[in-house]
Amino acid sequence: MLDSVFRHTDAYLASLDDRPVGVPVAPEVLRSRLAGELPDVGVAPEQVIDELVEAVDPGLVASAGPRYFGFVTGQALPAARAADMLAAVWDQNAFSYVSSPAAAVVEEVAERWVLDVLGLPESASVGFVTGASMANATCLAAARNVVLRRLGWDAARDGLIGAPPLPVYAGAEAHATIFAALRLVGLGAGSATLVDVTPQGALDAEALVLDGPAIVCAQAGNVNTGAVDDLALLAEKCRAAGAWLHVDGAFGLWAAAAPSLRASVAGVELADSWATDAHKWLNVPYDSGLAIVANRVAHRAAMGLSAAYLTESEHRQNYDYTPEASRRARGFAVYAALRSLGRSGLAALVERCCAHARLFASLLGEGGATVLNDVVLNQVLVAAPPDAMARVQEDGTCWLGGTVWRGQSAMRISVSGYETTEDDVRRSAAAILRALG
Ligand SMILES: *Cc1c(COP(=O)(O)O)cnc(C)c1O
Repeated sequence: MLDSVFRHTDAYLASLDDRPVGVPVAPEVLRSRLAGELPDVGVAPEQVIDELVEAVDPGLVASAGPRYFGFVTGQALPAARAADMLAAVWDQNAFSYVSSPAAAVVEEVAERWVLDVLGLPESASVGFVTGASMANATCLAAARNVVLRRLGWDAARDGLIGAPPLPVYAGAEAHATIFAALRLVGLGAGSATLVDVTPQGALDAEALVLDGPAIVCAQAGNVNTGAVDDLALLAEKCRAAGAWLHVDGAFGLWAAAAPSLRASVAGVELADSWATDAHKWLNVPYDSGLAIVANRVAHRAAMGLSAAYLTESEHRQNYDYTPEASRRARGFAVYAALRSLGRSGLAALVERCCAHARLFASLLGEGGATVLNDVVLNQVLVAAPPDAMARVQEDGTCWLGGTVWRGQSAMRISVSGYETTEDDVRRSAAAILRALG
């Protein structure tokens, strides 16, 4: 059975360089291939898999390949992909130490390595969650409890009904998932006071006025421009006011791992919590996000299970750091990615993506396109009508998504893959220029 899976895997990976990246497909096409009646009698597993592989093919997006530039989607490093496949084969429940000592210790080691490469405090804790959305929610749950405690309220015990007002600030360009996370943790999507942003979409730290305990949602890496907030100034203001500084660094936090880019996130280590993705710039397969909290006790108090479980233990209990109990052993793939890259390989991956973004900007600019952002990380924003973007997707050389920036329709190029080459950038830039006409 697994032999056939490996054959399918090899064939798919070998096709990635040539297959159209993400050609639109109508759902009926896929339904007609997939949606027969549920059989009364089971079908042999080999047949199920062979026919699944055949049926889904037109609906697969080659985001594992080198010319997918949508949604800050990283590829999957070979070691990370393999570790993730093994996690499925081992079928470990990463819930607790006894349910999988291996998953507990791997996450403990991966935690240490993540903090190390990102230059965050050694004493911080890391929860292995589905993505930055859940990382934002996890961190903001800890923030909510700690800041309300400063205001004399025990939210973990008493909930939010009757709690004192809790001021929340976010940049006007904060990611949509920050507001979804605020809604999920009971603070309300509309509760945040929006702070003005700089022309590149960073929160204008000078404009932020704090007069007491609050939660400030900062950003390392605006999803359109890559702009990073002035984290050092924000941290200073938060410290003075007794406020909690949370950084959504879904992709941008990885700039901290590259010596040449570290200055762009200066002060990041002074925050109270950080959300980031391993499935973006670290090139780990989905789903893999990291919820990082400077105060381990606060992290555990917000996420750990009932008092019965919350006993001191000499072991890491993974359930202390994530909203879930039973779950996939996500740490294996993060561990494998970091070990296979090493410190220098990770820095090179991040730097190479940024260099490719700059090359994109210069090729597109020379070709007559208008680049709308300062290319500071891996994001390039190009003025384009929606139909030009549709033509790029239809052409299939590369895939990128659309956005609206300052009222102007634009295409967004995110270079996040370890295998993307200069040649991929040149081929893709040519396809984009053709589509722009
Ligand atoms: C991608 C992204 C998110 C959401 O991350 P998911 O992994 O999709 O949950 C949040 N913030 C920023 C800045 C992002 O780029």
